[in-house]
Amino acid sequence: MPRSLKDEVSEALLAASKVSNIRSKALSLVASLLGDESPPHLHAESALQRSILLRLDGDFKNSERVIHDFCCRCETPGQSCLPIYFRQRQKQTVELSHRLNALYGLLQRSHLENLVQCDQYELAKEQIDDWQLTRTASPMEWDILPSRTLTTSKIFRSQGAFKCAQQNLELCVKVLHHREPTRVQVLCQLADVYNDLGFSASASELLAPEIEKSRKKITKTKAFRRLLVSLVETNVQNRQFETARADLEQLNIIFSKLNHFNVSDQLLHVRALVASAQICHIQEEFGGAVERWDITLRHVRSYNSFEAEGFTYSAIYLSQSHAYLELGEHKRAQSSFDRGKAILDRGMRDYWIPTFAAWVTEVLPKLQPMAEVT
Ligand SMILES: [Zn+2]
Repeated sequence: MPRSLKDEVSEALLAASKVSNIRSKALSLVASLLGDESPPHLHAESALQRSILLRLDGDFKNSERVIHDFCCRCETPGQSCLPIYFRQRQKQTVELSHRLNALYGLLQRSHLENLVQCDQYELAKEQIDDWQLTRTASPMEWDILPSRTLTTSKIFRSQGAFKCAQQNLELCVKVLHHREPTRVQVLCQLADVYNDLGFSASASELLAPEIEKSRKKITKTKAFRRLLVSLVETNVQNRQFETARADLEQLNIIFSKLNHFNVSDQLLHVRALVASAQICHIQEEFGGAVERWDITLRHVRSYNSFEAEGFTYSAIYLSQSHAYLELGEHKRAQSSFDRGKAILDRGMRDYWIPTFAAWVTEVLPKLQPMAEVT
């Protein structure tokens, strides 16, 4: 096959792999077709899509490796080689094609996502501006702003900087095209931030028209799962427990039919499980709450995106401890408290699950009797 045809086929495969479930096969095929003489944007697009796919599978190390291989081409990835590389590219944007510069923006975003997934929040924050829109930016570069906003607001949220996340997302919503592929993600993330800030009425308002459209569709997509999880959390905040329970039942069916949970589905599933436990807890059905916290913990343990025993574990143990305490089971309450508190003392809080950190702040004072024993 002549080189030009190979490149054309690669281009078509890369476009197809974004919207189909043959992604992994298409990307391997592209890797075998691309050569040294192929245009850099094809190499960049191939690296970008492979890094995203690997991250969704929870393979953060290799996702990062792919980016280094395309960008700095270092043998041993270090903490500084990518930031240096992207900052240098940023200075040379006039020499880059708009298409390639947009792809650098997305590759840098993929790198930031890997940092966030690996709890390297400080590093991610330092590197947010390593790629920025220039004064001469083309529509192609503007188009990547919604997906970059999603990542930057994730970084702000990881630091508990909800106001910053809100401002960025609201600005993004204003310019969001109705066919923008990340539209639902942006809206859901803004709704989540509203919930974190205690503006659950704004979250309801934002989600209502979207969820109505999605409920009418026969095929329930990933976008629907996202919307429904955000809506359930909003309804918990609004104390609309019966509505939340009905939507959780639907989510339960959807998740039970899902064959493969990538990292983002793992998080959505855990958020739904947490909401279900919280409803029992708030309604003082403490027996049911203990059981549901237990189910949540089992799933968290089985998901690779929760591999490190971090804040989510601690929040579940502490909630369970409180439920046991209410049931009069002091020994179990103490044991859950000790485990939860030890993790909490070891590391910092994170904000992966909207409002969960605030929940822990409310639960902790109620566990005072146990803190005195330790
Ligand atoms: Zn490197």
